[in-house]
Amino acid sequence: MRKKIVAGNWKCNTNLQEGVELAKAVNELVVAKGDKDVVVVLGTPFTHLTKVVESVDNNRIGVSAQNCGAEAKGAFTGEVSAEMVKSTGATYVILGHSERREYYNETSEILNKKVALTLENGLTPIYCCGEPLEIREAETQNDFVKKQLDETVFQLPVDEFKKLVIAYEPIWAIGTGKTASTQQAQDMLAFIRSLIADKFGKDVAEEISILYGGSCKASNAPELFSQPDIDGGLIGGASLKAEEFLGIINAY
Ligand code: 13P
Repeated sequence: MRKKIVAGNWKCNTNLQEGVELAKAVNELVVAKGDKDVVVVLGTPFTHLTKVVESVDNNRIGVSAQNCGAEAKGAFTGEVSAEMVKSTGATYVILGHSERREYYNETSEILNKKVALTLENGLTPIYCCGEPLEIREAETQNDFVKKQLDETVFQLPVDEFKKLVIAYEPIWAIGTGKTASTQQAQDMLAFIRSLIADKFGKDVAEEISILYGGSCKASNAPELFSQPDIDGGLIGGASLKAEEFLGIINAY
């Protein structure tokens, strides 16, 4: 059985105090819920990681950075390395988010360095891929996503690749209220799984969790999560409200 994962990506939202309150509220709801069928992850700003790790039940909730530096250490003013993330007690790093690719010019080359450092430090990358609207309209989304994966994580040795979580986030569905249809999401995730099977073998493809992200909320999560290849969600806006986020976790 593949892991079911619901991961929040808070993006550049909440100050430290608000973030800790939100983490505590999510923790209370998740702990009260009891069962442990779904892995819950909170993707917080760097500044919040230590405090959030301290504020949640670490057996129940994983904490994630939303990025890390492409260099291990040294004279890179303002950068936060994978080792620094690790030292906070966080266990995941979101990498390759479309907002980072678009606004901070993250190329495949940069992402390969980040993925390698994340894995070296024993952190789990949540590796994002997904196409912009014009690609979807041209119906070339499969080629686009395949290229994103071919240039990056498909270069990893199989034993490293197996440690990843993949997230498919069509850019046109992020923060727009326009969710991919359940069929569009399922089709792409099945396609990604078939690419993994071709590259790394069927067993690896069956083991790896692939998430959908883009305007996922408590109301549409049950239908999305009912699909055979959708192993959970990467949640932006709806992860900023504890009750709504719990609603998504409860969709399983
Ligand atoms: P929204 O859920 O706000 O559309 O954001 C999705 C996302 O980008 C998660 O990484």
